Amino acid sequence: MTDAAQPYVTLNDGRRMPQLGLGVWQVPSAEAAVAVEAALRAGYRAIDTAAIYGNETGVGAGLRAAGVPRSEVFVTTKLWNDSHGRDRTLRAMDDSLARLGLDYVDLYLIHWPVPKSGLLVETWKAMVELVREGKARSVGVSNFRIEDLRQIMEVSGVAPTLNQVELHPRFQQHALRAVQKELGVAVESWSPLGQGQLLGDPVIGAIARKHGKTPAQVIIRWHLDSGLIVIPKSSRPARVRENFAVHDFRLDANDMAEIGRLDSPHGRIGPDPASVR
Ligand code: NAD
Repeated sequence: MTDAAQPYVTLNDGRRMPQLGLGVWQVPSAEAAVAVEAALRAGYRAIDTAAIYGNETGVGAGLRAAGVPRSEVFVTTKLWNDSHGRDRTLRAMDDSLARLGLDYVDLYLIHWPVPKSGLLVETWKAMVELVREGKARSVGVSNFRIEDLRQIMEVSGVAPTLNQVELHPRFQQHALRAVQKELGVAVESWSPLGQGQLLGDPVIGAIARKHGKTPAQVIIRWHLDSGLIVIPKSSRPARVRENFAVHDFRLDANDMAEIGRLDSPHGRIGPDPASVR
């Protein structure tokens, strides 16, 4: 897979990020090593992990096994909720880097806003410090609501590069996306396949048959054609490869409209960010 075939997005700090990456939530460390190596060999150049996933060590092993130059791989990890506050944030970054076996990550995210902790602004300022120290090339957030985004931006004057949120055809997040567009904050979709629940949807199935593609490939293409960054998860090498083979077709306006109609106010699968502590 050549660089030209794989789309990149430019973040608001000027850095480039692959638009399609591999997510490794719920993948045990040893399996994560295998999946990451398979992904890099298939052409992926972005991996999404988190301290709480317990597999940063395996991700690091997979990166080394694949032998792709460090400068060509975009590695994201996330700060867990028990590490908010300046000192704990700085320490958590060092701990993640040690487990990954890296001296920087490309992107470090605040995993959840934990609004009731009162530490959000202090934590965000520490994230910005990590960019100055060179330990994170870019910083961003995850599961932030509009008010959380506005709060950190107003106090620090620094916009997160992106907000990684639950987003899939049944939960399309149009209101949040509109505000993020205005703020210049990119949108990254987590659980992009609805944790697999969307793969049996008849509308998706019909579009997949029309294009001679699988349901997973159609949904990943929908994210890409919607301008979203997307990180589908699979630990099976064959599926990891299948999920990357999406650069040879496009959805038409009709397909996009049909998938658009799957959006539902009740489509959320994961927790509401306001309730996560
Ligand atoms: P997903 O929507 O990517 O679905 C993954 C599931 O779909 C797999 O477990 C498998 O059952 C199925 N699947 C994947 N590819 C398939 C294929 N080609 N054919 C058939 N079935 C297939 O779910 P996810 O893991 O929840 O989300 C993806 C990534 O998003 C995670 O790994 C993680 O990196 C990230 N994430 C972040 C947060 C957050 O709070 N920031 C929360 C959840 C997930």
